[in-house]
Amino acid sequence: MKLTKISEHIYYMEHDPETDRPALGYVKGEKGGFMMDAGNSSAHHHHFIEKLQENQLPPPRYLSITHAHWDHSFGLWATNAATIAGGKTNKELEKMSHWAWDDEAMEKRLKTGEDSLFAHTHICKEYTHRSDIKVKTAEISFNGSMTIDLGDITCILREIVSPHCRDSVVFIIPQDSVIFLGDSYCSVPQGEEWVYDKVLLTAYIDELEKIDFRLAIKGHHPPQTKEELLAELKAEWKKL
Ligand SMILES: [Zn+2]
Repeated sequence: MKLTKISEHIYYMEHDPETDRPALGYVKGEKGGFMMDAGNSSAHHHHFIEKLQENQLPPPRYLSITHAHWDHSFGLWATNAATIAGGKTNKELEKMSHWAWDDEAMEKRLKTGEDSLFAHTHICKEYTHRSDIKVKTAEISFNGSMTIDLGDITCILREIVSPHCRDSVVFIIPQDSVIFLGDSYCSVPQGEEWVYDKVLLTAYIDELEKIDFRLAIKGHHPPQTKEELLAELKAEWKKL
């Protein structure tokens, strides 16, 4: 996968649907780098770090994740950076860190709805040996929002209401007018279908409209302008 420079300080590596690897992002500051989402495995994580090296970018000083879903968080243990997550995300990770990954435990979580078939299928594809799965909590957690000052650029980590999950965080980089959405714009898998909750989608659109940004980096789709993103979400809203 290739690393793309999207603005003066920001890079991202595109998503890979094969094993549901989401887009990963990087903000280059004079005091160090900030990595956005950890990857779905140490392999995904290290692939990104190699891309940074190829582009003469140092490994990140800080790393934060947008939510606890496996594809964004299972690479967390592989980093040397200081790790940060929203309080709700860290609670989820704490719970998941006690999960077993044998067939029986995974089947049981499918039945209880704790895990989706979509996630299950892709976890099995990414991990040849499921004993390689390690779930870690972040070292630093916050509620509401926090700011990272990288010297010449500042990143805002902010919890946001989302139709995708209850622990969504977005990363806003005002100076470059970029927002990193993770999956906050996505619906939820229910069997074969992906379904939006109308109340949550309404609240999410309202929140996004109030945030000042030009470009959005999406977890599982190519980046969009604010206008394109809002038009797409409003079209989904109309279908409900
Ligand atoms: Zn997700």
